Amino acid sequence: MRYIDVHCHLDGRHFDDLDELFKRLSRCGVEKVITCGVDLPTSIAVKEIAERYNGCYFTAGFHPTELRDYKESDLEKIAELASHPKCVAIGEIGLDYHYPDTNKPLQKEVFVKQLKLANELGLPVEIHSRNSAEDMFEILRANAGLLNNGFLLHCYSHSVELAVELKKAGAYFSFGGTSTYSGSKKARRCIATLGLDRLLTETDSPYMPPVSKQGLFPNTPESIPEILQGFAELHGIDEELCADKVWSNAHTLFKKLN
Ligand SMILES: [Zn+2]
Repeated sequence: MRYIDVHCHLDGRHFDDLDELFKRLSRCGVEKVITCGVDLPTSIAVKEIAERYNGCYFTAGFHPTELRDYKESDLEKIAELASHPKCVAIGEIGLDYHYPDTNKPLQKEVFVKQLKLANELGLPVEIHSRNSAEDMFEILRANAGLLNNGFLLHCYSHSVELAVELKKAGAYFSFGGTSTYSGSKKARRCIATLGLDRLLTETDSPYMPPVSKQGLFPNTPESIPEILQGFAELHGIDEELCADKVWSNAHTLFKKLN
Protein backbone atom coordinates (compact mmCIF):
# COMPACT_ATOMS: atom_id res chain seq x y z
CA MET A 1 0.00 0.00 0.00
CA ARG A 2 1.15 3.55 -0.59
CA TYR A 3 0.23 6.47 1.58
CA ILE A 4 0.43 10.24 1.47
CA ASP A 5 0.54 12.95 4.14
CA VAL A 6 -0.88 16.12 2.57
CA HIS A 7 -0.16 18.41 5.55
CA CYS A 8 2.71 18.33 8.03
CA HIS A 9 5.46 20.59 9.37
CA LEU A 10 8.86 18.95 9.09
CA ASP A 11 10.91 22.14 9.47
CA GLY A 12 12.17 23.40 12.80
CA ARG A 13 13.89 21.76 15.70
CA HIS A 14 11.51 18.87 16.37
CA PHE A 15 13.02 16.63 13.72
CA ASP A 16 16.77 16.58 14.20
CA ASP A 17 17.35 13.53 11.99
CA LEU A 18 15.28 13.88 8.84
CA ASP A 19 17.45 11.34 6.96
CA GLU A 20 16.37 8.72 9.48
CA LEU A 21 12.72 9.86 9.39
CA PHE A 22 12.52 9.62 5.59
CA LYS A 23 14.03 6.11 5.72
CA ARG A 24 11.36 5.06 8.21
CA LEU A 25 8.63 6.67 6.06
CA SER A 26 9.61 4.68 3.01
CA ARG A 27 9.61 1.50 5.13
CA CYS A 28 6.02 2.08 6.22
CA GLY A 29 4.78 3.02 2.74
CA VAL A 30 4.37 6.77 3.25
CA GLU A 31 5.76 7.60 -0.18
CA LYS A 32 4.81 11.27 -0.39
CA VAL A 33 4.55 14.08 2.14
CA ILE A 34 3.66 17.75 1.75
CA THR A 35 5.40 19.88 4.35
CA CYS A 36 3.80 23.29 4.83
CA GLY A 37 5.17 26.77 5.33
CA VAL A 38 3.44 29.17 7.74
CA ASP A 39 5.42 32.36 6.97
CA LEU A 40 8.38 33.38 4.82
CA PRO A 41 11.25 31.73 6.80
CA THR A 42 9.36 28.42 7.19
CA SER A 43 8.32 28.45 3.51
CA ILE A 44 12.02 28.72 2.59
CA ALA A 45 12.91 25.99 5.11
CA VAL A 46 10.34 23.51 3.74
CA LYS A 47 11.51 24.20 0.18
CA GLU A 48 15.04 23.20 1.24
CA ILE A 49 13.72 19.99 2.85
CA ALA A 50 11.73 19.14 -0.30
CA GLU A 51 14.90 19.60 -2.37
CA ARG A 52 16.73 17.07 -0.18
CA TYR A 53 14.21 14.20 -0.20
CA ASN A 54 12.45 12.28 -2.93
CA GLY A 55 8.74 12.16 -2.30
CA CYS A 56 8.81 15.39 -0.27
CA TYR A 57 6.87 18.38 -1.57
CA PHE A 58 6.02 21.72 0.04
CA THR A 59 3.63 24.66 0.25
CA ALA A 60 4.45 28.34 0.69
CA GLY A 61 2.26 30.93 2.36
CA PHE A 62 1.28 32.94 5.45
CA HIS A 63 -0.72 31.25 8.22
CA PRO A 64 -3.30 33.59 9.85
CA THR A 65 -1.58 33.55 13.27
CA GLU A 66 1.89 34.16 11.79
CA LEU A 67 1.40 37.68 10.44
CA ARG A 68 3.62 39.60 12.90
CA ASP A 69 6.38 40.17 10.34
CA TYR A 70 4.16 40.13 7.25
CA LYS A 71 4.79 42.78 4.60
CA GLU A 72 2.86 42.99 1.35
CA SER A 73 6.12 42.64 -0.61
CA ASP A 74 6.56 39.18 0.99
CA LEU A 75 3.88 37.85 -1.35
CA GLU A 76 6.28 38.34 -4.26
CA LYS A 77 8.73 36.09 -2.44
CA ILE A 78 5.98 33.52 -1.82
CA ALA A 79 5.19 33.65 -5.57
CA GLU A 80 8.85 33.03 -6.35
CA LEU A 81 8.94 29.99 -4.03
CA ALA A 82 5.69 28.76 -5.58
CA SER A 83 7.31 28.55 -9.00
CA HIS A 84 9.53 25.74 -7.67
CA PRO A 85 8.67 22.37 -9.28
CA LYS A 86 7.99 20.83 -5.85
CA CYS A 87 5.74 23.61 -4.51
CA VAL A 88 2.32 22.01 -4.89
CA ALA A 89 0.07 24.67 -3.29
CA ILE A 90 -0.18 28.04 -1.56
CA GLY A 91 -0.59 27.36 2.15
CA GLU A 92 -1.21 27.18 4.80
CA ILE A 93 -3.47 30.18 4.63
CA GLY A 94 -6.84 31.01 6.19
CA LEU A 95 -8.46 32.37 9.35
CA ASP A 96 -7.90 31.58 13.02
CA TYR A 97 -10.00 33.37 15.64
CA HIS A 98 -8.87 31.24 18.57
CA TYR A 99 -6.95 34.11 20.22
CA PRO A 100 -9.32 36.97 21.10
CA ASP A 101 -6.78 39.75 20.46
CA THR A 102 -6.17 38.71 16.86
CA ASN A 103 -6.31 41.21 13.98
CA LYS A 104 -9.27 39.84 12.01
CA PRO A 105 -9.25 42.47 9.23
CA LEU A 106 -5.57 41.75 8.54
CA GLN A 107 -6.19 37.98 8.54
CA LYS A 108 -8.98 38.37 6.00
CA GLU A 109 -6.96 40.71 3.81
CA VAL A 110 -3.90 38.42 3.67
CA PHE A 111 -6.09 35.35 3.13
CA VAL A 112 -7.89 36.87 0.12
CA LYS A 113 -4.60 38.19 -1.32
CA GLN A 114 -3.18 34.66 -1.16
CA LEU A 115 -6.29 33.19 -2.80
CA LYS A 116 -5.69 35.69 -5.63
CA LEU A 117 -2.03 34.76 -5.81
CA ALA A 118 -2.80 31.04 -6.00
CA ASN A 119 -5.32 31.68 -8.77
CA GLU A 120 -2.77 33.72 -10.75
CA LEU A 121 -0.20 30.97 -10.34
CA GLY A 122 -2.62 28.16 -11.20
CA LEU A 123 -2.15 26.44 -7.82
CA PRO A 124 -4.58 24.99 -5.27
CA VAL A 125 -4.64 26.28 -1.66
CA GLU A 126 -4.35 24.55 1.73
CA ILE A 127 -6.71 26.30 4.13
CA HIS A 128 -6.59 26.48 7.92
CA SER A 129 -9.86 27.54 9.59
CA ARG A 130 -10.28 27.61 13.36
CA ASN A 131 -13.25 29.17 15.19
CA SER A 132 -13.98 31.12 12.02
CA ALA A 133 -16.60 29.07 10.16
CA GLU A 134 -18.89 31.97 9.16
CA ASP A 135 -16.23 34.31 7.86
CA MET A 136 -14.46 31.44 6.13
CA PHE A 137 -17.57 30.36 4.30
CA GLU A 138 -18.40 33.96 3.38
CA ILE A 139 -14.91 34.62 1.96
CA LEU A 140 -14.91 31.37 -0.04
CA ARG A 141 -18.39 32.11 -1.37
CA ALA A 142 -17.50 35.69 -2.34
CA ASN A 143 -14.25 34.57 -3.98
CA ALA A 144 -15.46 31.40 -5.68
CA GLY A 145 -13.90 32.64 -8.93
CA LEU A 146 -10.45 32.33 -7.34
CA LEU A 147 -10.85 28.66 -6.45
CA ASN A 148 -10.54 27.14 -9.91
CA ASN A 149 -7.42 25.18 -9.02
CA GLY A 150 -9.02 23.47 -6.04
CA PHE A 151 -8.90 23.96 -2.28
CA LEU A 152 -8.30 21.82 0.76
CA LEU A 153 -9.72 22.43 4.23
CA HIS A 154 -6.97 20.93 6.36
CA CYS A 155 -7.82 19.39 9.72
CA TYR A 156 -11.46 20.31 9.11
CA SER A 157 -13.17 21.16 12.42
CA HIS A 158 -16.50 22.82 11.54
CA SER A 159 -19.95 21.25 11.22
CA VAL A 160 -20.99 18.39 8.95
CA GLU A 161 -23.62 20.70 7.39
CA LEU A 162 -20.99 23.25 6.41
CA ALA A 163 -18.77 20.47 5.08
CA VAL A 164 -21.58 19.37 2.78
CA GLU A 165 -21.94 22.96 1.48
CA LEU A 166 -18.20 23.29 1.00
CA LYS A 167 -18.07 19.99 -0.83
CA LYS A 168 -20.65 21.31 -3.29
CA ALA A 169 -18.30 24.26 -3.85
CA GLY A 170 -15.49 21.81 -4.73
CA ALA A 171 -13.64 21.49 -1.41
CA TYR A 172 -11.35 18.63 -0.41
CA PHE A 173 -10.96 17.76 3.27
CA SER A 174 -8.09 16.28 5.23
CA PHE A 175 -8.23 14.75 8.68
CA GLY A 176 -5.43 13.70 10.98
CA GLY A 177 -4.73 11.96 14.27
CA THR A 178 -7.68 13.42 16.13
CA SER A 179 -10.04 11.49 13.84
CA THR A 180 -8.73 8.21 15.35
CA TYR A 181 -10.21 9.02 18.80
CA SER A 182 -13.65 7.54 19.35
CA GLY A 183 -14.63 10.83 21.09
CA SER A 184 -14.03 12.84 17.90
CA LYS A 185 -17.64 12.46 16.85
CA LYS A 186 -17.81 15.48 14.55
CA ALA A 187 -14.68 14.61 12.55
CA ARG A 188 -15.78 10.99 12.25
CA ARG A 189 -19.27 11.98 11.11
CA CYS A 190 -17.71 14.26 8.49
CA ILE A 191 -15.45 11.47 7.20
CA ALA A 192 -18.38 9.07 6.96
CA THR A 193 -20.75 11.65 5.41
CA LEU A 194 -18.42 13.22 2.85
CA GLY A 195 -17.75 10.05 0.92
CA LEU A 196 -14.31 9.03 -0.26
CA ASP A 197 -13.98 11.22 -3.30
CA ARG A 198 -12.81 14.37 -1.46
CA LEU A 199 -10.96 12.84 1.50
CA LEU A 200 -7.26 13.12 2.20
CA THR A 201 -4.94 11.97 4.99
CA GLU A 202 -2.71 14.32 6.94
CA THR A 203 -0.85 14.36 10.25
CA ASP A 204 -0.12 18.07 10.95
CA SER A 205 3.10 16.66 12.46
CA PRO A 206 4.65 17.38 14.89
CA TYR A 207 1.19 17.98 16.43
CA MET A 208 -1.99 15.88 16.76
CA PRO A 209 -0.80 12.30 17.48
CA PRO A 210 -3.28 9.49 16.74
CA VAL A 211 -4.74 7.39 19.54
CA SER A 212 -1.89 4.85 19.58
CA LYS A 213 0.64 7.65 20.14
CA GLN A 214 -1.44 9.73 22.54
CA GLY A 215 0.74 12.20 24.48
CA LEU A 216 3.83 11.52 22.37
CA PHE A 217 5.78 14.32 20.72
CA PRO A 218 6.72 14.82 17.97
CA ASN A 219 4.07 13.12 15.91
CA THR A 220 5.37 12.10 12.45
CA PRO A 221 3.90 11.12 9.05
CA GLU A 222 4.43 7.50 10.18
CA SER A 223 0.95 7.92 11.72
CA ILE A 224 -0.70 8.02 8.29
CA PRO A 225 -1.43 4.24 8.04
CA GLU A 226 -3.35 4.39 11.35
CA ILE A 227 -5.37 7.41 10.16
CA LEU A 228 -6.11 5.71 6.84
CA GLN A 229 -7.23 2.57 8.66
CA GLY A 230 -9.77 4.73 10.53
CA PHE A 231 -11.11 6.13 7.22
CA ALA A 232 -11.48 2.59 5.82
CA GLU A 233 -13.35 1.44 8.95
CA LEU A 234 -15.73 4.40 8.86
CA HIS A 235 -16.52 3.62 5.23
CA GLY A 236 -16.63 -0.14 5.74
CA ILE A 237 -14.19 -0.75 2.89
CA ASP A 238 -10.91 -2.48 2.34
CA GLU A 239 -7.84 -0.49 3.46
CA GLU A 240 -6.02 -0.94 0.19
CA LEU A 241 -8.94 0.42 -1.79
CA CYS A 242 -9.17 3.37 0.60
CA ALA A 243 -5.42 4.08 0.33
CA ASP A 244 -5.62 4.01 -3.48
CA LYS A 245 -8.54 6.43 -3.45
CA VAL A 246 -6.80 8.88 -1.12
CA TRP A 247 -3.63 8.64 -3.24
CA SER A 248 -5.53 9.43 -6.41
CA ASN A 249 -7.51 12.27 -4.74
CA ALA A 250 -4.23 13.88 -3.70
CA HIS A 251 -2.87 13.66 -7.25
CA THR A 252 -6.08 15.13 -8.66
CA LEU A 253 -5.95 18.14 -6.32
CA PHE A 254 -2.18 18.72 -6.25
CA LYS A 255 -1.25 18.47 -9.94
CA LYS A 256 2.45 19.07 -9.26
CA LEU A 257 2.65 15.77 -7.34
CA ASN A 258 2.41 14.01 -10.71
ZN1 LIG B 1 -0.47 23.02 9.87
